[in-house]
Amino acid sequence: MPNPFENALKQLDRATAIQSFDQDFLDKLKKPNQEIRKIVQLEMNDGSKRDIEIYRVQHNNSRGPYKGGIRFHQDTDIEEVKALAFWMTLKTAVANIPMGGGKGGATINPKELSKAELERLSRAWMQAMVEHVGPQKDVPAPDVNTTPEIMKWMADEFEKITGDSSGAVITGKPIENGGSEGRGVATALGGFYVFEALKDKLNLPEQCRVVIQGFGNAGQYAAKFFKDAGHKVIAVSDSRAAIHNPDGHHVDSLMEHKSSTRAVTDFSGASQIEHDSLLELECDVLIPAFIENQITKENADRINTKVVLELANGPITPEADDILFAKGIQVIPDILANSGGVTVSTFEWEQNVKGEHWSEKEVLDKLKENIQREALNIYNRAQELNTDMRCAAFIVALERLEQAQQN
Ligand code: GLU
Repeated sequence: MPNPFENALKQLDRATAIQSFDQDFLDKLKKPNQEIRKIVQLEMNDGSKRDIEIYRVQHNNSRGPYKGGIRFHQDTDIEEVKALAFWMTLKTAVANIPMGGGKGGATINPKELSKAELERLSRAWMQAMVEHVGPQKDVPAPDVNTTPEIMKWMADEFEKITGDSSGAVITGKPIENGGSEGRGVATALGGFYVFEALKDKLNLPEQCRVVIQGFGNAGQYAAKFFKDAGHKVIAVSDSRAAIHNPDGHHVDSLMEHKSSTRAVTDFSGASQIEHDSLLELECDVLIPAFIENQITKENADRINTKVVLELANGPITPEADDILFAKGIQVIPDILANSGGVTVSTFEWEQNVKGEHWSEKEVLDKLKENIQREALNIYNRAQELNTDMRCAAFIVALERLEQAQQN
């Protein structure tokens, strides 16, 4: 599997081949400010102890406190967390929010843990990292396999140790525990707003055929927003199965089916297809909403969509970016397409710091205005520079970061 941090640096090289930047500034970005790795001991329900490796990578804080989620996954390692932290630095700059970039993780499959074990692990993560995080220092959030409830446990642990009850140390909390309205849908909805802003420019049809890889938080809500707007969600997958229905899935029932059976397998009206062939279906909008390295030089030639909307982080390798660009497939990059999550996280942080609670309408109106402005900005830069939107997004982000460093 390609190393995600090396891929992130190759993306940087692709962008800086189009527009050059000061070499010292770029060299600094190629290394995180700080990498924290620790082992925590998790007490299992049967009394045994398990050593779990946990991470926080603080990449860059020139535009504000480090910001980014915590991932619990059996394949997570420091290289992945470093890449994700680097992308957060660029993402917060693209979204033009006053935050830097960081990311955290734990190498564990949380689906193997009981709820009590998961709570102990979440609290242990915060105990081990408490000196490194804080509302003005580093503000974590959810990512793959981490939920609002986990954020609540971590916020509670932080409060117990430091006495800070503002909740501003971590975002993505349940609404009743200081979370923001709209945070649950923000990643997918932000992606949908970007799609709407660019739909005509990208020559997409009125009714698009949409394929979604991944049916977690981002994938499910994306299916819902696209279907509610009249598009056809013709295929989706989760880790268990990939299902296809050329007439469009009934998304609301599919969400119910997923929540009751925990999988998309055996959904009525759909035929089961191979995971690999899902990405190669003919469609208008392909939405990778799973993990890194899904479209690579091995399968990029067979991708048969007009547009890729990246809701996952890092789903396309740099070699595949070149192939897709040559084929005329437009990629709306992760650091723009999924930036709705961290944008609403930042609204949550701001509400906590100020002791306010904003209405859902206020949050979503602000998200829409912000993300659509940046989407058009990046699209225009890509046109001007005759490059793809990933390079344009990197260039916009690098300009903002360089500016911040000079201040
Ligand atoms: N984990 C999400 C991301 O990759 C959200 C981060 C946040 O809300 O801080 O953007």
